[in-house]
Amino acid sequence: MAHCIFCKIIEGEIPCHKVYEDDRTLAFHDINPKAPMHVVVIPKKHIANIMQASEDAQLLKDMACAVTEVAKALGVQDSGFRTVTNTGEGGGQSVDHFHFHVLAGKTFGEDFG
Ligand code: 5GP
Ligand code: ZN
Repeated sequence: MAHCIFCKIIEGEIPCHKVYEDDRTLAFHDINPKAPMHVVVIPKKHIANIMQASEDAQLLKDMACAVTEVAKALGVQDSGFRTVTNTGEGGGQSVDHFHFHVLAGKTFGEDFG
């Protein structure tokens, strides 16, 4: 049984509102949205953060493709959206399973908080 909360979502132990799924990625609505639309995109392979993905070109391509599919599903591929990945405590990462946040439905400014 998986210990990581996102691995539990992949395995169906925790339900989610799915936006996109393929063999290697899953995307679902964030439980605590920070924008009118807020989707989390994860690889099905457990890795902790973007640094651990640096030698996995396939995984990074899969994640980019999944973000693109999410943008299309949300209808924001032309209007635009923000993609964020937090790393470590200082970066505000609370789940140690690499993920992209896809934030949309408002116009973002230059401030990254
Ligand atoms: P981080 O803080 O690691 O960058 O992002 C983790 C995100 O996962 C947070 O935005 C948080 O709201 C979301 N999250 C944590 N647990 C769950 C859950 O069980 N279901 C869903 N849908 N989102 C979750
Ligand atoms: Zn995991």
